[in-house]
Amino acid sequence: MNCPYCGYYDSKVIDSRDVNEGIRRRRQCLSCDARFTTYERLQPASLFVIKKDQRREEFNRNKLLTGIRKACEKRPLPTGSVDKLADDIEAELYHLGKAEIPSTVIGDMVMERLKNLDYIAYIRFASVYREFTDITALKQEVDTLVTSQAETTRSTSQLPLLPNEELKALAKSLRKRKSKGLRLINNAKTRSHR
Ligand SMILES: [Zn+2]
Repeated sequence: MNCPYCGYYDSKVIDSRDVNEGIRRRRQCLSCDARFTTYERLQPASLFVIKKDQRREEFNRNKLLTGIRKACEKRPLPTGSVDKLADDIEAELYHLGKAEIPSTVIGDMVMERLKNLDYIAYIRFASVYREFTDITALKQEVDTLVTSQAETTRSTSQLPLLPNEELKALAKSLRKRKSKGLRLINNAKTRSHR
């Protein structure tokens, strides 16, 4: 590391300490005596995602974040919860220590977490990710949620994340219409926002 002031190639370390998963070093240039700081961090090995068509693509945190954000758009979620969700997934992926991970594994991780965060976001994500071309499959998913939410409400004193009415309305509109799954999801979005 050359001195940022005079460009001299050598410096001495005058202080060194651990900071979140890295080391911070205070250095002093051996030529001009200027002080500067360097950080040393472990570079995570690159991680590749195996897509459904078997193509490989380098893991992209922004892409993951965009997908989750879209699903959570205009939902009443605590600030930072979407970023935290993406952070958790990224950390878990690197923790697996694999060079390649199927996109389905990542999708399932998102689904699992969204289910605990917000049902509407979960359904939205699922409708894109699982490509619910079949409205029956989407309806089934919503029905499962209605049932499990009813159970959760009964078994704990905790308030449900969403009013049951909202999910029931979604399930009802799914029964009425036999197609246009995504439009229903958008309707649910509009309704929940009013
Ligand atoms: Zn210098």
